[in-house]
Amino acid sequence: MISVSSAILLFVILPALSLYGYLVMLPSPPLFASVCSPSDPHSLAHQRSSTSPNEPRASQQSNGYASASPYPRVLVVVAHPDDECMFFGPTITALTSSNADKVFLLCLSSGNYDGLGSIRKKELVDSASELGISPSHVTVLEDSRIQDHPHDMWDADIVAEAIRLQVSHHNIDVIVTFDQFGITNHPNHRSAFHGVRKLIRSGAVPDPTSDQAQATTASSVLAFSLDSISLARKYTSVLDLIPTTLLAWLRSQPQISTDEGPNSRYSGQPLVVVAPPWHVQKGFRAMFRHRSQLVWFRYLYLASSRYMLINELHQIK
Ligand SMILES: [Zn+2]
Repeated sequence: MISVSSAILLFVILPALSLYGYLVMLPSPPLFASVCSPSDPHSLAHQRSSTSPNEPRASQQSNGYASASPYPRVLVVVAHPDDECMFFGPTITALTSSNADKVFLLCLSSGNYDGLGSIRKKELVDSASELGISPSHVTVLEDSRIQDHPHDMWDADIVAEAIRLQVSHHNIDVIVTFDQFGITNHPNHRSAFHGVRKLIRSGAVPDPTSDQAQATTASSVLAFSLDSISLARKYTSVLDLIPTTLLAWLRSQPQISTDEGPNSRYSGQPLVVVAPPWHVQKGFRAMFRHRSQLVWFRYLYLASSRYMLINELHQIK
């Protein structure tokens, strides 16, 4: 028998918070659009289009980059199949809802710790489809040096090189991955962060489509990490909208603010992504595609994790 207080929580407070989060998100420009607005002379898109006349991004209309499109090409880097929907769902659905053909997913391992790698790879492709990423945009690495293991840190040089190849191959502008704590402190998650950071700090990311290694430099590829939050907030689901929005306000004018127009450049503030209910639903559907992982505590996770509806992204420098 449901109590009155539970009913108020379920049917009044939680929907009100959801509505609030959605209304907060409504006026914001598409995620990362301000990073790459071509109209801004300081923007990444403008730098790319003016740096080299032979550069593929600027000269090929087919990828949309030299057009008026403000959307960057984004690579989401995860460690295992299911990371993409357990943690990055709000970010991925925000991206694919505005420009799905520029969103790519790199999974650094097949999640073969229990010998289910081949199954989990298929599950990942299905999950990515639910989130709006085309199967042709999903890459799962099978490298003996970076295998799924709960205690192994991966060599950052190997991870960075694997990501560099994807960045070059797909003409990536923005990378999104875990932060140094990896949400769950899993060493494979943390390794993804260290690999991305190493790449960002390393210098050139040569473009393989060019005769000469040219044009694309690591400084023109931006990277963002998904913020790991305390356990006290992690499993408060929609209630975490309260501290999230409060902290965003205290930081003054983050990306969710209406003051940031679509043509403004990325300000350096964290990007807060609040998924509307239909994006959260996509995240749930994606998680259910990982049938091999649907043990009982995954249901608890789905019901309680704030990462199913809120992502906060910080730039990696
Ligand atoms: Zn994982």
